[in-house]
Amino acid sequence: MSEPETAADPASQTAVRIEDVAVRFRSRKRDVTALHGVSLDVAMGEFVSIVGPSGCGKSTLLKLVAGLLKPSSGTVRLRGDAVAGPRNDIGYVFQRAALLEWRSARRNILLQAEMRKMPSAQAARRTAELIEMTGLQGFEDALPHELSGGMQQRVALCRALLHEPPVLLMDEPFGALDALTREQLNIELNRIWRETGTTVLLVTHSIAEAAYLSNRVVVMSDRPGTVREVIDVDLPAEREYATTVERPEFSRVASHIRGLLGAGAAAD
Ligand code: ADP
Ligand code: MG
Repeated sequence: MSEPETAADPASQTAVRIEDVAVRFRSRKRDVTALHGVSLDVAMGEFVSIVGPSGCGKSTLLKLVAGLLKPSSGTVRLRGDAVAGPRNDIGYVFQRAALLEWRSARRNILLQAEMRKMPSAQAARRTAELIEMTGLQGFEDALPHELSGGMQQRVALCRALLHEPPVLLMDEPFGALDALTREQLNIELNRIWRETGTTVLLVTHSIAEAAYLSNRVVVMSDRPGTVREVIDVDLPAEREYATTVERPEFSRVASHIRGLLGAGAAAD
């Protein structure tokens, strides 16, 4: 049994707190300000998407939360602690599944357990649960080249969720998939988010994906990336696809995002 959160401490309710963050990359050739004056709070269990033009600092923002990069100024907190280095309490999914070609689906998922030295019985039990949750049953022993792109991303998602991270970071995870597979994975991600209760920060170029999945959508400006607007999505947590995308609230959110990004800006 886990302890209940202490209601008196608001920081314990905040999964991610980004305060007035700037990131400048300096090289001999040029200086780039990737992010400037970015503040954002993400509540425990919330699903927040980040959309914005290419090069506006979306991936940089996720790297800050993961502790893979330090801000030039400002602070990033994960569950109340200042992020000071790579964090164990996150999962990360990228556009490319980045699976080891010589390992089966199951053994790619178990890589996470090996890296974290998880007890093997616990890792095996959790792997079986995740394989079931993502519909990979029957493909446990397949090698990556025997899996479709969608299945490879399911394996990557299982690997990211194996250690039950309270925060899941996803950087354009479905960007390389065809439209139908993407839709299917969006439906599954909505269900997995509800079942695991994990906090999700998703970077996406798809307006529909952001509107369908999120509690809130962060729209960023051109570089240097700032938060232009944060849009609340007033839809229930459980979202049946066909009816959700027909709802006026979905259309309102999607056209609001599109208006902020400008024609074509989200299409790359
Ligand atoms: P996005 O994910 O929104 O497309 P990124 O966060 O990848 O954008 O990059 C934001 C800006 O910072 C870009 O101009 C990119 O070229 C620059 N940048 C990102 N990482 C580095 C780095 N390690 N060194 C120098 N410049 C970088
Ligand atoms: Mg990026």
